[in-house]
Amino acid sequence: MARYRGPVCKLCRREGLKLFLKGQRCITEKCSFNDRKAPPGPPPKRRPKMTGYAAQLREKQKVKRIYGVNEKPFRNLFAKAQRMKGITGENLLILLERRLDNVVYRMGIASSRAQARNLVSHGHIRVNGKRVNIASYQVKVGDEISLSEKMRSSELIEANIQMARGVGLIAEWLEMADDGKSGKVAQLPSRENVDIPIKEQVIVELYSK
Ligand code: SF4
Repeated sequence: MARYRGPVCKLCRREGLKLFLKGQRCITEKCSFNDRKAPPGPPPKRRPKMTGYAAQLREKQKVKRIYGVNEKPFRNLFAKAQRMKGITGENLLILLERRLDNVVYRMGIASSRAQARNLVSHGHIRVNGKRVNIASYQVKVGDEISLSEKMRSSELIEANIQMARGVGLIAEWLEMADDGKSGKVAQLPSRENVDIPIKEQVIVELYSK
């Protein structure tokens, strides 16, 4: 499936928000969003007022970009969220949080969701001791997530863990081992655990047309 491989900082400017797509760089002064917040492209002579539909589309794009999910799997998750009990928008965010690549990121093992996705797809992640290389795998309560033996000694992983601990990135719903290289899903995430400014109801309105 085609993935966006262009400059990711542009995406933050497009969405008018830091999406934290570049790992460590995003939390340093090197983040270009600090100095350049205008959307990419030439400045318009007159900025058009955003219609309701455009605002809905932007919100959807923002969430897809944050979690690195393409349209089709995003729609599939939305359909699953609709079938679940509770509020569809919240269900959607919870399903996104439960993706294995996101969990690896929220454990602090990877510095970005893209890096987490690579770790998963290259077979470096174990779920309950078994290799799982599907980034969209949905974790369950009690699942134990760990690194392959080879990656446990990686300096990059160690640096990521230290960074994540420093900025408080590690999710409260995960119970981490002391060395930070494995963890257990203590409970499923709730809406309160998603600390990104997302108006999920707007996405529900878009898909409900
Ligand atoms: Fe966005 Fe800044 Fe990270 Fe670039 S460095 S992806 S602008 S948050």
